[in-house]
Amino acid sequence: MIGTRPEAIKLAPVVLALQRESAVRVTVCLSGQHPTMAHDALTSFGIAPDVELALDRAATTAGARFTGLHRAISAFLDRLPQDRIVVQGDTSTALAGALAAFHAGVPVAHVEAGLRTGNLAGPWPEEGYRRMIAPIADLHFAPTEWARQNLLAEGIAPDRVHLTGNTVVDALIGIRAAISRSADTSLRLDAWQRGLSDGKPIVLVTLHRRESHGSVLTGIAMALRDLAEEFRDHAFVLPVHPNPAVSGSIRSVLADQPNVRLLDPLGYEDFVYLMSLASLIVTDSGGVQEEAPTFGVPILVVRNESERAEAIAAGFAQLTGTDPDRILSAGRKILARGGRAELRGKANPFGDGTAAKRIAALLLSRRDATVPTGEPVIVSQSGRPVKQPRFAQ
Ligand code: UDP
Repeated sequence: MIGTRPEAIKLAPVVLALQRESAVRVTVCLSGQHPTMAHDALTSFGIAPDVELALDRAATTAGARFTGLHRAISAFLDRLPQDRIVVQGDTSTALAGALAAFHAGVPVAHVEAGLRTGNLAGPWPEEGYRRMIAPIADLHFAPTEWARQNLLAEGIAPDRVHLTGNTVVDALIGIRAAISRSADTSLRLDAWQRGLSDGKPIVLVTLHRRESHGSVLTGIAMALRDLAEEFRDHAFVLPVHPNPAVSGSIRSVLADQPNVRLLDPLGYEDFVYLMSLASLIVTDSGGVQEEAPTFGVPILVVRNESERAEAIAAGFAQLTGTDPDRILSAGRKILARGGRAELRGKANPFGDGTAAKRIAALLLSRRDATVPTGEPVIVSQSGRPVKQPRFAQ
């Protein structure tokens, strides 16, 4: 089940690994959450969705959009019953998919399970969504040991939690290999990036987090404008997220800065190519924090909390918060010493490119798994347990 661009990128290697197995038939279903970006990302991997759900676009609140997704996915499971559903991460699609599967009695596998900030308000609603998926899923694929420990601390049975690495590293390595295999693609990308950067070192920026919309995002954009002003010998490249709440703030502050390039969202191949060249990445994206270490690029995480402490502990990322002065001073320090040199060759703490293979093998070995029964307790008004029903197996 795939709703957004990062889900498409992170599930593509799992889909490809499963498609190589004759024992399973994979149905790739796009929920319709971000139809264009998810579709485009799948295309980079040569994957065509089998099913694309139609959503009511009139819904304006997070709750109404969630309800629409749950309804559409439930109807899909009704029409095309599945033996298992695989969800990824912490989007509305992931939780709606897990809940729809729960109602249909279909076991749920959760890819990139166990990420936590410990703060329900940040990132919102993602922290709540991923916590709610955990008790529903019967297979939890934790990308790192830290994520695995988070799940165990929440009482998930150890035999249901598997340390796999993050599939985004597989995706990245696959795309990088495809670029270098094709002389035409390499030439196209090289000519494109030279035109874009005028041959200057690149600072790559992505911003989209909902918690930053409004004045916080404007403040981050102002810090970037000041950094670009100081480092005119660098090209600042921003593929701008299509959400008007993002593009409005970004364009109003940065549109006239001569060494800033504001672009439409990039195809995965193009974005990976720019990452591989960047001197610095400034981002609030989760996936980008997991990818940049493969290229040894320093990252400024312009958020107040991170569920990806591994990037910070390994020295790739700094959590700057959203204060413009702190962002400016952290960016200045890194660019003044020439960006990435000291990180080159350090291992990516999020994986080694074999996560999807492990996940596919685990999915195949657990084809007979059932919906977890748990020990649900109905509590009387007095607070005392009155009965302990079991879900049917
Ligand atoms: N990405 C992309 N094109 C872009 C910007 C990002 O393909 O113009 C990729 C990026 O490499 C990463 C993913 O999109 O794999 C991150 O998506 P996003 O930041 O939207 O979501 P998050 O990771 O924060 O959930």
